[in-house]
Amino acid sequence: MKEQLLTKKILKWYDFNKRPLPWRKNVSLQKRQYYTLVSEFMLQQTQVVTVIPYFNKFIKNIPDLKSLSLAQNKKLIKLWEGLGYYSRVRNLKKTAQVIIKKFKGKLPCNLEELLSLPGIGNYTASAILAIAFNKQYIPLDGNIERVLKRYLYLKKDKEIAKDNLIQKKSIFGLSSRSSDYAQALMELGALICKPTNPECKKCPISMNCKSFQKKDFNLTKKVKKNKEKYFILKVYKKNQRYLLIKNTKFNFLKNLTIFPMEELSKPKNFNENLNFKMSNMNMNIKIQYLKNSSKFQSPFWIDQKKINNYMLPTFTKKVVKYLEKS
Ligand code: SF4
Repeated sequence: MKEQLLTKKILKWYDFNKRPLPWRKNVSLQKRQYYTLVSEFMLQQTQVVTVIPYFNKFIKNIPDLKSLSLAQNKKLIKLWEGLGYYSRVRNLKKTAQVIIKKFKGKLPCNLEELLSLPGIGNYTASAILAIAFNKQYIPLDGNIERVLKRYLYLKKDKEIAKDNLIQKKSIFGLSSRSSDYAQALMELGALICKPTNPECKKCPISMNCKSFQKKDFNLTKKVKKNKEKYFILKVYKKNQRYLLIKNTKFNFLKNLTIFPMEELSKPKNFNENLNFKMSNMNMNIKIQYLKNSSKFQSPFWIDQKKINNYMLPTFTKKVVKYLEKS
C-alpha cells in the first residue's frame, strides 16, 4: 500500500517517540489480543498514566481470557478498586465468558461480532480491530479527535459533530501498519497535540496544520452540563463500625457496597455536608446520623480502622474518611 506523506510522517515520529506501555510489549498474538482487550476496557474512562499500574497488576493476577472468565467477582473488583466505573470490569468478565463459550476462546476479529460483546461499543471495537488485528480502522478517541480538529481547524458546531469528525478522519489516510498507525495518532494527541500548550515545534505535521498557521489552538467543546443531584446519606455507627449495604437501588456503583442513601428531588434549603463528583453528576450529600438499623436485612458492619482491608468503592472510603474527620 502506498502511504501518503502525512501517514509516513506520523509513523516515523511514532517509531522514535512512542512510550513503552505495558500493553505494547512484544508478546504472542494471543497475548496481544488479551492485552488489548483489557487495556481498552481500562482506558474507556481513564488516562493512560493511571491505567499502567492497574494493567500490570491485573495481568499478573489474571493472565489470560480463561482465567478472566473464571475469576471471582470479589477478586476482580479488588483489582479494579480505584479505577472507578466498575461496570467495565463486570462487562470485561462477561465478554471473556462469551468468547470462551461462543468463539472457542478466540477474540473475534470482525466488527459485528465484537459489537455483540458486553461493554464493547463502536470505539472499543475499532480500537481492538486496529491494535490487536492490524485492520485498517482509525478509532476516534479524544486524542485523535483533538489532532483532527486542530489540523483542520474545525470549530463550528457542525464541524465538530461526531458524524463530521468520522468523515473527516479520512484525511489521515491508511497504513498497512494499522496497529502502529492507530496508536501513533493517539500518541501524537497525548504527547504533542495536548489539550493545552500543544508542542507544535515537535509536531511532525505542523507544516500543513491550520491551527498552527493561524496560531489559534483553542478547541470548541460541546458543553456537557453536570447534573446536580441531592442525597441523604444515612450513617449508623456501632462500636466503631459503620453499616453498609449492597447497592441495588442506584445505577451508579451498582452492586457495590455503599452507605444507605436516599435521593431527593430539588430539596429546599439543602445544606450539604459533602460534595462528590461522579461521572457527569454533582452529588450533594447531607449526612444523617441514625440509630435503629433493624430494618436492614443483610448489612455489612465495617470497622473504620480496617477500612483498607475491605473491598469498597472510592466513594464509600471517602465518606468514611469524612466521617472520621468530622
Ligand atoms: S501543529 Fe500543533 S496544533 Fe497542529 S497538530 Fe501539531 S501539535 Fe497540534
